[in-house]
Parts: sequence; structure tokens; C-alpha cells
Amino acid sequence: MAALIRALRSSSSSSYYTNYFIRRSLSTAASTTAPPLKSEPFTPFMDTKGKHVQWVFLGCPGVGKGTFASRLSTLLGVPHIATGDLVREELSASGPLSKQLTEIVNQGELVSDEIIISLLSKRLETGEAKGESGFILDGFPRTVRQAEILGDVTDIDLVVNLKLPERVLVEKCLGRRICSQCGKNFNVANINVKGENGNPDISMDPLLPPPQCVAKLITRSDDTEAIVRERLRVYYEKSQPVEEFYRSQGKLMEFNLPGGLPESWPKLLEALNLDEYEDKQSAAA
Ligand SMILES: [Zn+2]
Repeated sequence: MAALIRALRSSSSSSYYTNYFIRRSLSTAASTTAPPLKSEPFTPFMDTKGKHVQWVFLGCPGVGKGTFASRLSTLLGVPHIATGDLVREELSASGPLSKQLTEIVNQGELVSDEIIISLLSKRLETGEAKGESGFILDGFPRTVRQAEILGDVTDIDLVVNLKLPERVLVEKCLGRRICSQCGKNFNVANINVKGENGNPDISMDPLLPPPQCVAKLITRSDDTEAIVRERLRVYYEKSQPVEEFYRSQGKLMEFNLPGGLPESWPKLLEALNLDEYEDKQSAAA
């Protein structure tokens, strides 16, 4: 009996996301016996306590994590918080923390977990004061220690791990070009890779520059195959324990990208059970 109560308790305290799925499947079941209410509001991002999306986006360099996180944050109306941006913003601000940060960065040292967490807490508090709720974190946590500290600061409902095979990532990185005049980013790689282990084929169209930029394209000096592979190796080494940390909590959602943004976006929405949400959004627009 005690075990059952514990189980019930733990299921009632399980993540909002799980509850959302349970609620959604219950409402689907109910709709088979009763006609659906046409005016029923579809609010998957707020449970009865008004809690919103508190998600983390993981993914290796070059996977396009920032783009997906940013698009989702616009769709869901929650802030997209990239810790790299927080550091840059603080550096351009004034105050004791920004002085300390400037010193650290000037000495080429890594910004400590404590500083990142304090920037993040500050950002979340400011957002909350402005009436924001929920967030999509991008680029954080990078280590298990950061994930543990983050867990003390706030609840994480879902961790989306965006994945592409290594050879696709390498091709994609090697195709990157920047216009030396206007600073815009392009990609000349035309990717067509057969899917492995039952995964679908992956195709990505190049993002070609307009005529006025063609002659001014440059390649970043660190976009060489050796550097890209090393960057990925370092990333995997660090991220695997973080993935395991969230997997063991049942919060990790692995998502194999089928291609670039046009191919991946609808599939990602489907995987997040948001396809219906976007339809309603665009119908309302
Ligand atoms: Zn240009």
C-alpha cells in the first residue's frame, strides 16, 4: 500500500510534459464518446498550475540547435535563452560581474559554472518579473555538474537532443561560407546521405548566396575537417554524461533530424506533439 501511494505520488509529481501527454490521451479517449467542443482552447503549454514549457535543447555544433530552439520559442511564446548571449550581454553591461567576466575572458579562462548559473538565474528572474513563463535553454547545461546545479535552480520538463550523423555534420560545416562584405552566412554543401540503421535518408539543400555576395565569400579558418571532427569528439565526450543524466530521469527525447529546416521542422513538431498546435496558430493568424 505504501508503495502504491509512493508510486501515485511520484506519478503526480512527474513532469508536466508527461502529464500533458496523459491529459491529451485522456481527452482523445473522451472525444470518441462525446462530440469534440469546437471552441475548446488548445493550451498544451500550461497545466492547471499555469506552468509552462521548461525545455533544454542539446545538440552538437553545426546541428542547427539555435535555429530550432529559436523557432520553437517564437511558436510557443517562451523565451529562447542561449547562455552564450547571456555572457555577451553581461560583458557589454556595467557592474561588478561584468568586470569580473571581462577579466576572465581577457585571460582566456573558461567562465565558471557558478557565473553561468548566476547569469541564468538573473535572466529567469528578470523574465518572470516581466511576466514571462517558461523557457527554451540553448547551450546549457554542458556538463552533469551544470545540469545538477540547474536542477536546484529550476525544473526541467523535457530535454530535446537533436542529432545528425557525423559525416553530415562534417559536410555541413565544411560548406559554411560568410560574406566578407555583408556578414551573412551561407552554405554551399548539397547533402544527400543514405540513412543508416533504419533511419531515413538525409538531404539538405545548400543555402546559396545572392549574386552580389558570390565573389566575397570566405570560409572560417576553423572550418577544416580536422578541426570540425575534433570539435565533435570533444562535444560527444562532454555531452554523453549529460544525455545519460537526463535519460535516467526519463526526460531525454532523441530526435534524428531528417535534413535541414524545411524537412525537419514539421517532423520535430510532430515528435513534440505540436503539429496540431501549429495548425491552430496558423489558422488563427
Ligand atoms: Zn554579402
